[in-house]
Amino acid sequence: MQHDITKLLEVSRRYGSDARYVLLGGGNTSLKIDDVMYVKASGHALANIDASGFVAMSLPRLEAIWNKTYPEDPTQREKEVLADMMASRSDGETARPSVEALLHAIIPFRYVVHLHPAIVNGLTCSQSGKTAAARLFPEALWIPLVNPGYILAKTVRDAQAEYKKKNAKDASLILLQNHGVFVAANTIQEIDQCYKDIMDILQRSIVRKPIFTVVKPNAAHVALVQKAMQTYYGGKQPYPIIANRELSTRLSNLESFASISSSYTPDHIVYSGFAPLWVDKTVFFAKDTVSVLIELFKNFEIEHGVPAKIIAVQETAVFAINEAALLLFLDTVKVAAFTESFGGPRFMDANQINFIRNWEVESYRANMVAK
Ligand SMILES: [Zn+2]
Repeated sequence: MQHDITKLLEVSRRYGSDARYVLLGGGNTSLKIDDVMYVKASGHALANIDASGFVAMSLPRLEAIWNKTYPEDPTQREKEVLADMMASRSDGETARPSVEALLHAIIPFRYVVHLHPAIVNGLTCSQSGKTAAARLFPEALWIPLVNPGYILAKTVRDAQAEYKKKNAKDASLILLQNHGVFVAANTIQEIDQCYKDIMDILQRSIVRKPIFTVVKPNAAHVALVQKAMQTYYGGKQPYPIIANRELSTRLSNLESFASISSSYTPDHIVYSGFAPLWVDKTVFFAKDTVSVLIELFKNFEIEHGVPAKIIAVQETAVFAINEAALLLFLDTVKVAAFTESFGGPRFMDANQINFIRNWEVESYRANMVAK
């Protein structure tokens, strides 16, 4: 490593180990020194990151990407952009840069800390998010939901140019609809101040916080679902479950379930699946509940090509195929509650969800995390 990146490591670990800001691998950071950008490598968690979790990239090489023309076809385009991104690494680098490296590169500040906090996504995933953001954060740049990767970076780049024309300075706070926030500054102190301000302003604007008081679900029903999951998904250990007041309200019927029935952000798709499987309580009236459940699991997999990662059982609890899926689903519940302060929930649209589901880069990240 050419430069001292101690401060970058410190700020990454600090935000990475604070659950208000970061869940699992979510979020990434970077530091620019002269012509080099150190950006988080794909598949590393911020909480315990060391120098090997960062990739050095050449800023001039990354900048050259903007002088190229890429194919219209999204798969072909992302493949070529990825190849150019890999070729932009400093000589000798072997790690794969974060899928968001291109975005980091175009933000003209030394430090960039990009996170997906639930409270921020309560704003970015809400019906009146854009107008609320304009009121609460007049300095911020709001980016609408577009395909991730090249298109997102290009959208931000164009919006930045527009912003600079109007404000005679660069945007240092960027809110991405259905995604998260980029905070940029030349010092760590400014980064910290900006995040503190964001959190304070949002805390004051939230009319209701999620209620995570634990409730006890029907043990016999839980046992039946566990048995069906063990038969279908394998394993001997009980699968992780959650039951709390916030969820109970939402598990009462399909209508109340609507606000947690799809994906708010790419991270939610990657970890807890694009949608949970809803199981009606009538399943417990069946003679052989376990077989009926297994049939439902099977049908979901046939219909969607992937098994359900989250199983939401009416008036019972939410079951997950692993801890990561559970954690991110809990985040979905938080985001849903926070959106109530900003006109109600707004999921990613079907096109965006499909784009992510088919995106090779995201599946790579999911695999890395699973290892
Ligand atoms: Zn992100």
